[in-house]
Amino acid sequence: MAKIKIAIDAGHGSKTAGKRTPPFTQAVDIDKDGKIDVKKGESYHEHYANVGIASLLYHKLKANGYDVIKTGWDDDNAKNDDDTPLSNRQQTIKKNKCDYSVSIHFNAYGSGAAYNSVAGVCIYIHSQYPKESRHLAEYVLQELRKGTSQQNRGIHSDNLAMCNCKTMNTKASILCEIAFMTNEREAQKLMANSDFWEECATEIAKGIERYCNCNNKEEVNSKGVYTLTHTVVAGDTLSKLAKTYNTTVDKLVKLNKLKDPNKISVGQKLILMKYKLYTVKQGDTLSKISQQYLGSAKRYPEIMELNMLADTLIHAEQILKIPVD
Ligand SMILES: [Zn+2]
Repeated sequence: MAKIKIAIDAGHGSKTAGKRTPPFTQAVDIDKDGKIDVKKGESYHEHYANVGIASLLYHKLKANGYDVIKTGWDDDNAKNDDDTPLSNRQQTIKKNKCDYSVSIHFNAYGSGAAYNSVAGVCIYIHSQYPKESRHLAEYVLQELRKGTSQQNRGIHSDNLAMCNCKTMNTKASILCEIAFMTNEREAQKLMANSDFWEECATEIAKGIERYCNCNNKEEVNSKGVYTLTHTVVAGDTLSKLAKTYNTTVDKLVKLNKLKDPNKISVGQKLILMKYKLYTVKQGDTLSKISQQYLGSAKRYPEIMELNMLADTLIHAEQILKIPVD
């Protein structure tokens, strides 16, 4: 079987205008070798941190047996990387016939001159040509949320070049905004911290691994209802599946009209969940969406559960799964 091919893209160039933190309010030793890497009052470049994670991720994926290529960076030259135009990055990915691509970035909010409170991790997929990107993004985001505690901003849809599966001819392309470089804590404690890079690279690699090995399939019908099915393998039980997919045995029994929840057989196709997708608009709240789609504002916890939200904060352009009974 041909190896799965993945492109790892590190956003921007080392000297690209903007794309750096506001001045650090303290000196930081990124790799804890006793030497200061960023002085108090200096700005840190997004590209350096992007490469920090991209490089670790590249080697982890190679070690896991994937065929991996780099776009937009060079291991030995991170501080001297020119900004590779987006169209060149896209063409490299297309020419190399990559199955998937992952672009690493840090987010920014406001003018970039001063720190503000906007924070958190999110993953972007293309608004028109996402193909399987949301499914991959879910696995990666799930893993990214396991490490250092950060606000979960969810999966967002936008018209970004590095997410365009059509132009790059990929099956799935995601862009990870790991944290905000305009947030004081995230810039100094996460972005300029090689332990955090290691943690993120491990988590992204694990998300990709789980996605590539997942024994499930998502299909959508003409009414926009998605069905996620799983093919039973030896050792599967309903309670194990319920735990893996964040649902309940009762729901699985009902969805699959099972007579005996203890009797499932290898090769059997089980429906895990059904949902529609909704893209959050400015001014939306979970109870408003719940009222509109589930008939009651009080059912919003079901949306939280399906999307694994830790709080009720949602953001414009965030993609939410809405349960379908
Ligand atoms: Zn960026």
